[in-house]
Amino acid sequence: MSENPANFLIKCAPSDNVGIVTHPFGLTKGTTIINEIILQHDIPMGHKVALEDLLAGDSILRYGHKIGIANTDISKGSWVNEENIDRPNPPSLKDLQWKPSSPKPLNPIKGYTFQGFKNNNGSVGTKNILGISTSVQCVAGMTKYIEAKIRRELLPHYPNVDDVVAFNHSYGCGVAINTPAAMIPIRTIKHIAQNPNFGNEIMIIGLGCEKLRPERLLPENAKDNGSSVVYLQDESFKGFGAMVAGIMDTAERHLKKLNTRERVTCEASDLVVGLQCGGSDAFSGLTGNPVAGYAADLIVRAGGTVLFSEVTEVRDGIDLLLPRAATQQVANALIEEMRWYDDYLTRGQADHSANTTPGNKRGGLSNIVEKALGSIVKSGTTSIMDVVSPGEKIRTKGLNFVATPAGDFVCGTLQLAAGMNMHVFITGRGTPYGLNVVPVIKISSNSKLSDRWFDLIDLDAGPVALGTKNVEELGWDLFHLILDVASGKKKVATDLLGLYNDLVLFNPGPLT
Ligand code: CA
Repeated sequence: MSENPANFLIKCAPSDNVGIVTHPFGLTKGTTIINEIILQHDIPMGHKVALEDLLAGDSILRYGHKIGIANTDISKGSWVNEENIDRPNPPSLKDLQWKPSSPKPLNPIKGYTFQGFKNNNGSVGTKNILGISTSVQCVAGMTKYIEAKIRRELLPHYPNVDDVVAFNHSYGCGVAINTPAAMIPIRTIKHIAQNPNFGNEIMIIGLGCEKLRPERLLPENAKDNGSSVVYLQDESFKGFGAMVAGIMDTAERHLKKLNTRERVTCEASDLVVGLQCGGSDAFSGLTGNPVAGYAADLIVRAGGTVLFSEVTEVRDGIDLLLPRAATQQVANALIEEMRWYDDYLTRGQADHSANTTPGNKRGGLSNIVEKALGSIVKSGTTSIMDVVSPGEKIRTKGLNFVATPAGDFVCGTLQLAAGMNMHVFITGRGTPYGLNVVPVIKISSNSKLSDRWFDLIDLDAGPVALGTKNVEELGWDLFHLILDVASGKKKVATDLLGLYNDLVLFNPGPLT
């Protein structure tokens, strides 16, 4: 790699009038870049430079699309950021019409397998976990106590079980339980318990007097599987010790069954990979997200399922996504989820411009439009086969839009409820984010991050910006890494380090 400054500048599309500085230390004022353009400012890594003289009112083009409007004259070589550009209005939902694109069909790929845990309902786990769900926050102290006791005293006797995970949440009582908005947290709790990694051995701890009845959290066919509910107010428990013994008995019954599960060869079509970004920078849309998008296409070509989410990060690019809807029905559902979220934000007197964080901006993302265009890239190029509302389970293989907020743990929690068995997370600024229910493969968008966080990042997409590796090579690397991690052959950084975030419910309803 020569130190020619032109090698440290990327144009995302030929029509772009800004370039992105890729040098890890940025480029300094006075540097000559391409076309004899001389930098007018020091420009940090990931930030934009004007490649032509722009007048106030001119469109700023990145990815070949308008990401902003110059609010002052900007001479070529200048730093373009949130100070000198304004955000364009999001596409109006009522004017949107579904005009299907005809993406070039991608050839199926065959023969890719992993070692997973097959469940009798057809789903496949990538881990073997005893899950303990709860109906109300009142029991959280007890479930934390029990989780630690099971891990310490029982797990060593059941070597085929990877872990025990208690799902505590703030829901269940003091809430209006039968409102439309209440459906979201309730079905989320219910469907998380059905995540493939719990092997249908669902155990629920309830209090007894709460509004959310634990029975509502059982699957429809609860009688036919090993689901069980323990109430702390059960009158047969005399004191704390008896309560603990009762729960430990139930746990042991489930552990015995889980311990008989073994990894068997599964087709790559059994993968359900949830994608999301967190702590993004301007490189995310150049490196990490295109690499994830390439791998997403490979998974779909192998017959598998890919979930992408984060409504506020696709809302401004909805006009680009809509033509990829497989049917009119899917297109309508996509628009409906955008509309629901617009209304939700309006009720809270917010709009989605609230999405970009100070870290995003320091990383070079000026506004939500620029962030959205970079975010959409991770969905790859295939048709959107279905749209799943928050807390619902997936119904279809292929690429699914799972509507969620963009907050990392809320999105991850809803993707778990949808049925994800593998998570891919792209970050530019860096976050120690991890989930205990499924492996989280963390991709850095720039090598500066992966060098600094060498033991927290699983795959570095930074070489794409420097031209030393391309999206296709790293996309295949990610695909193979997904298969190895799904097989338990390789462990992700957060599993090695035991770094796990809490699962966080999305509750758009009122507390009472
Ligand atoms: Ca996120």
